[in-house]
This record gives sequence, C-alpha cells and structure tokens, in this order.
Amino acid sequence: MKYLKVSAEAECDLMFFDEFNELRDALLNLAYGRHVFIITDNKVSALYLARIEQIFRQQSIIFSSLILPQGESTKDMDGLSNIYRFLISNSAGRKDLILNLGGGMISDLGGFAAATYMRGIEYINIPTTLLGMVDSGLGGKTAINFEGIKNVIGNFHSAVATLIYPEFLYTLPDSEIKSGMGEIIKYTLISNDVALPLDNRIPNLELILACCNIKKHYVEADAFDNGKRKILNFGHTYGHAFEAGSHFSLSHGEAVGLGMLAAVRFGNFMNITPDNVEVKLKQRLSACNMPTDYSSYTSSALEELSHDKKNNGGLIDMIFLKDIGVPFIMKVPVQKARGFLTNDSLYC
Ligand code: NAD
Repeated sequence: MKYLKVSAEAECDLMFFDEFNELRDALLNLAYGRHVFIITDNKVSALYLARIEQIFRQQSIIFSSLILPQGESTKDMDGLSNIYRFLISNSAGRKDLILNLGGGMISDLGGFAAATYMRGIEYINIPTTLLGMVDSGLGGKTAINFEGIKNVIGNFHSAVATLIYPEFLYTLPDSEIKSGMGEIIKYTLISNDVALPLDNRIPNLELILACCNIKKHYVEADAFDNGKRKILNFGHTYGHAFEAGSHFSLSHGEAVGLGMLAAVRFGNFMNITPDNVEVKLKQRLSACNMPTDYSSYTSSALEELSHDKKNNGGLIDMIFLKDIGVPFIMKVPVQKARGFLTNDSLYC
C-alpha cells in the first residue's frame, strides 16, 4: 500500500493498493461501527458491488446500497433527490458514512449529497475510472449539473479517504481510458514529475500516484480554486469548447488533448511557448491513439467559447506553458482566444 495525505479544505487520505486484501482492510477500518451507504451506478454495480458488499457482510457491518443509472444525466437534482430519499429512508445519521463506488459522476453526486445531508457527513471514494483515480476522486470539489449547466451547483467537501485500486481499470472501455489519459498527458506537461510513455494500455499504480501528487500540490496551495489551482485547467478552456462543439463525439480526454494543443499553439503564437512543446505534445497524444487535429471542431468551438462560464468581464484565465513543467496563468480577452482559433490555420 502507498499513501498520500492531501490537506486542503479538510484532510483526505489517499491510499493506493496493489492487492484487494489491502483495500478490504482499509475499508473495514473506515467503516467499523458505522452504517455504510454505498452509492454506485448500474454498470459498476454489475462488476464490483457484490465484491464490496461481501467485505461488509463478512464482518457484520451494516450497509445499504443505492444503484443509480450510469451516465452524466444522473448527476442532477433527480439523482440527488434519490440519494437523499435513500439516506432518509434508511435513517442515515451524522456519524454514518457514504461510499461512492464509481467514476467522477458518482463521486461528484455522492460527494455533494454528503456535503449537504444533515449539514455534511463523511464520505469516501473508491474510483473505478482512470479519470476518477487521477482527478475527480480527490480535491474536494463536488457538484451537480442544473438546467443543462455543468457543475453549476456544488461546493468543497473533501472525501475523508480515497481508495485507489488500479485493477478496477481492466474492465474500463478504451474511450474511458482515453478520457483519463487526457488528464495524465496534462500532468506530464504542467510538471516534470510524470513520465510517459506507457508500456501498457492501463497506467500502473506508480503513474497514478505521481499524477495524484501533482494534483495534491495544487490543491494544497489553493484549496478553493482562486489562483494557482487553475493550472490544473490547462487545456480545458479550448478543450470544453471542442467537447461541446463536437456534440460530445469527442471524449472528455480527447477534447482536453486537443485543447492543450490549441493552448500550446496559442502560446507559441504569442512567443510564450517554444516550438518543441507542440512536437512533444503531439507525440504523447499519438502514443495514446488520441486525435491531434481539431480543425473540424473549430467553428462550433468558437460559439462555445463565447458562452464559457469562466468568462469574467470578457476575460478568461488561460494556462500557458513557458516550457514543459513551467505553466502559468494569464488573463486573456475572450475575443483574442476566439480570434486565435479563427485564424489558427494562418498562424500555424
Ligand atoms: P463516469 O463516472 O460517468 O464513468 C464513465 C463510464 O464508465 C460510466 O458508464 C460508468 O458506468 C463506467 N465505468 C466506471 N467504472 C468502470 C469500470 N471499472 N469498468 C467498466 N465501466 C466502468 O465518468 P468519469 O469520466 O469517471 O467522470 C466524469 C465526471 O467527473 C463528470 O461529471 C465531471 O464533471 C466530473 N469531474 C469532477 C472532477 C472533480 O474534481 N470533482 C474533476 C474532473 C471531472
């Protein structure tokens, strides 16, 4: 077992396991003497719920399970109401524990329920997606979507523990692996502490831990995302625009990959980012079978950029690289960010 403590708005123990038995022991330590409320989705439950429930059953720990439909559309008011009803009907108390078993959809939704039920109860995450292991499972951000606006209702309420067991990734489809790979490639660009190439389709425990260590650094420096933590959004301004502009035919990770490429080119155009960064980024994207051409998404992305909810008085915080491992934040007029995309083919 490997271990990291993240001290942000509250403390979270990050634990990394090679062996399922180690995960079982850690889970029992956290659950002992409490009623455990497992929240999961139908795909993850079919694969792993019985295994987790068995741990509690063998030790006579009381548990209840709620299985929600998989997919982002569950992360809304109805999904949240289902969790509140589940907790109330099973008499969940303030000392009880929510266990989010699944990807970022489940941890965002279950985390927000935990943050608000009885003014806040403890929860733990067992991420089962790569994105969950390197990103959404830690850092304390919880949220639901409302009226089509992503993550517009939420708060900061850290899990008391996140238990990471990379074996869960072997059942994850390629598209979801790529989604997490987009974030991993991001870590290789904002820091020199994560190394590709991967020799496997599935990242190993050391690589996942190295990514978590970088996220820990930024989360601890800026728990409430007012400054330095924005570095973690590298590639996401253009990335979100490409993702929405592609009508979600691009996975989140693919869109972030293209978003990083656009940000690197924009930085190069402004004489901030040296030429070789684009070359290295493209090599990393290609090594993970991710797209390296965003030209077909540009026009729809332009529309999305004007509606970016982080657009503040016509300015957006963009992350640029002075070099690999040297990111910084700069306010850029939205018009300039749009203008770059419009004329990108002329510049590049
Ligand atoms: P997800 O939770 O929707 O999972 C993706 C799909 O994979 C689902 O169909 C799920 O059922 C399935 N799945 C999960 N684990 C599996 C496994 N081991 N084997 C087979 N299938 C499995 O998606 P995600 O990419 O993990 O998370 C996306 C969400 O995370 C978004 O809502 C996003 O807003 C949020 N997010 C939050 C943060 C944060 O800091 N809170 C950061 C990034 C993303």
